[in-house]
Amino acid sequence: MKYSLVITNGHVATPNAVLDTDLAIQDGQIAAIGDGLAAHAKEVIDAHGQMILPGMIDDHVHINEPGRSDWEDYHTGSQALAAGGTTTMLVMPLNALPARTTDKEFKRQTKIAENKSYIDYGLYGGLVPGNLDEIGKMGNDGAFGYKAFMATTGSDEPGDFKNVNDLELLEGMQEIAKTGLPLLVHAENATITDGLAAEKIAAGKTSIRDYVDSRPPFVEVEAVRRAIYLAEQTNVQLHFVHLSTPAAVQEVKNARDAGLKVTCETCPHYLILDRNKFEQIGPLAKCSPALRDPEIVEGLWSKLFKGEIDTIASDHSPAPMSMKESSTNNIFDIWGGISGCQNNVDLLYDQAVTKHGLPVTDFIRMTAERPAALFGILNKGKLQVGYDADITFLDLNQSYVLKNNDLLYKNKISAYEGFEINDRVTMTILRGKIIYTLAGGFTGNPIGKVLTPHSIGGLSS
Ligand SMILES: [Zn+2]
Ligand SMILES: [Zn+2]
Repeated sequence: MKYSLVITNGHVATPNAVLDTDLAIQDGQIAAIGDGLAAHAKEVIDAHGQMILPGMIDDHVHINEPGRSDWEDYHTGSQALAAGGTTTMLVMPLNALPARTTDKEFKRQTKIAENKSYIDYGLYGGLVPGNLDEIGKMGNDGAFGYKAFMATTGSDEPGDFKNVNDLELLEGMQEIAKTGLPLLVHAENATITDGLAAEKIAAGKTSIRDYVDSRPPFVEVEAVRRAIYLAEQTNVQLHFVHLSTPAAVQEVKNARDAGLKVTCETCPHYLILDRNKFEQIGPLAKCSPALRDPEIVEGLWSKLFKGEIDTIASDHSPAPMSMKESSTNNIFDIWGGISGCQNNVDLLYDQAVTKHGLPVTDFIRMTAERPAALFGILNKGKLQVGYDADITFLDLNQSYVLKNNDLLYKNKISAYEGFEINDRVTMTILRGKIIYTLAGGFTGNPIGKVLTPHSIGGLSS
């Protein structure tokens, strides 16, 4: 037999079109896409009309191992992602403890992650005050890029991640530019957000509304402008994580039109949730940047449709339930981060493709193809011959209401609990091996392997 596995009767989402045809796998890679392949297969899977998508590449995930494994570890985080149709994750240098900001810690944490992840994964390093000497070394260790915070990270815990001031950011950019790797920035003006929050708290204003008002849209836009201007002095490749406003996306577009190497990400929650839903859901929907007014959310959708947003990633930022509650109802005391990566594919597809009419080819570009190209992930991100057979089955004929006990996170909480989702991931394949089925759960031990960047080639298109 020519092929180890053939998927038949599926709608195969190739980069340019959804094809009603077969997809054949051999040696962990896609060997052929076309009609009549099932006759040459050792094993055939009848997809019964499901969508066959490239496994999502979630390039913004927080795993808290080591140091805070009770928040999320590689085992639980990667299971949640795999069950949700994500086959590759890039892991942020925070909020493990210590944060991954030195050569020594990068090497140590690379070892710690071994043989624990159900999906393929890569690691970022961090840019923090005083670690310029570590930047090049972490690049040699296999970092996919470097994360920096312009907003205050807000933790005094020894070893925790720290934000940079403008000089530290500029000097970090100069150092990172030498590596050719991207700098990923959380862009919010620290002085203004800290000051507004302090004013609110001093006045006893600690509701969800007050929190949202302490992080207005312009603090994001201002920081994006400033980072772009500084990046222009250094030739660093800049990637803005979790942009929440169309105005910030416009700044990125303007910079790119002017020839700068700037790209951006948004997250499902900035598209699916807004400040009104935040008030309904409560602290589980607290994140920063904060959730926006409905008009701003509509503007972000419009940017998405125009193709001005490069990637969509979860920013899965888990915490124990005790950190998502406050006995005094002070939202400022509550952990800012949304747990949501298990619903990367089903919820986003439902909202973006089914409800908003986004073409499937745009969906897979932002969730798989573009992240792979941007971060130099070789042979992933497309259903195309020669690429890794990383595949997600999405059944558009299933609906379900998300419940706590569906969740595989270490802490079974999600901002999307109670949401009706009108499709469902039924199978996930990693490099040709079925790692998860909705009916049978996980099959076997974790086979995820560590990835390192191949080349940074995604900026031309
Ligand atoms: Zn952030
Ligand atoms: Zn994050």
